[in-house]
Amino acid sequence: MRFALIDNEHMEAKPDLVGAVCPGCGASVIAKCGTQKVHHWAHRNTRMCDSWWETETQWHRVWKNNFPVEWQEIFLPDEQTGEKHIADVRTEYGLVIEFQHSFINPVERISREEFYKNMVWVVDGTRLSRDFPRFLKGGKFGSTELKPGVMHIEFADDFFPRNWLRSSVPVVFDFLGLDNPDSADHIRKTLYCLFPSHDEYNAVFAKISRKAFIKTVLNGEWSDRVRAYMDEMEQKYIEKELQRKESQQGVYYRKLYKVYIYPHRIKSTRRKRYK
Ligand SMILES: [Zn+2]
Repeated sequence: MRFALIDNEHMEAKPDLVGAVCPGCGASVIAKCGTQKVHHWAHRNTRMCDSWWETETQWHRVWKNNFPVEWQEIFLPDEQTGEKHIADVRTEYGLVIEFQHSFINPVERISREEFYKNMVWVVDGTRLSRDFPRFLKGGKFGSTELKPGVMHIEFADDFFPRNWLRSSVPVVFDFLGLDNPDSADHIRKTLYCLFPSHDEYNAVFAKISRKAFIKTVLNGEWSDRVRAYMDEMEQKYIEKELQRKESQQGVYYRKLYKVYIYPHRIKSTRRKRYK
């Protein structure tokens, strides 16, 4: 954890600080200020009280710092398990952002999405060396631009890691990691927001600048924009499905027509063929 309470005040870990407690469970915590991991607080006698907690990296900290300190590490009670979960960031508009560096299994991913509901994942796309090359390669195979910066892809697993394709909330991929945003190329600098989709293969993603993402989270517009966009996509999907069903029915009636109304035609053409 980045923050612990000392005399009810949120404090960052420093070697000489004592008497700190966990804001979630009230247990005693100690400052860990080594050279390997980012400085943090750890429970003294017990394990971390949130079973979903992921060891923090510098990448987490840099991301969290884009948002006010009061929005960071918010403890939320889980009535089903009696646990408390720590949202990496929870905005004053109720949006939760979870920054995910390590692998997450689908069961936990679903639990977190169901718990936080109004949330967005930000995934570290630099942890596995294959993720960015796959994304670049996917781009070469083609995608259809639905509107500027919004792409429809038919084989989503050619672009993104499989375990994120069934997410029920938007997933933002960050392929820049800790590189300097000023020196990096624009493909890495851009964020890619994968929207929830009806199946694993057909998907839609949007290119978003870091600035725009952070700005719309800060001013509270993110959730409304995503919702409006998803409604639009849903409408398009329904229309497409109707068209598909209608064209399938058309084929079906044409088949019926051939077999029952003009069976002799089929027979006669067959006869001709075998003559
Ligand atoms: Zn605790």
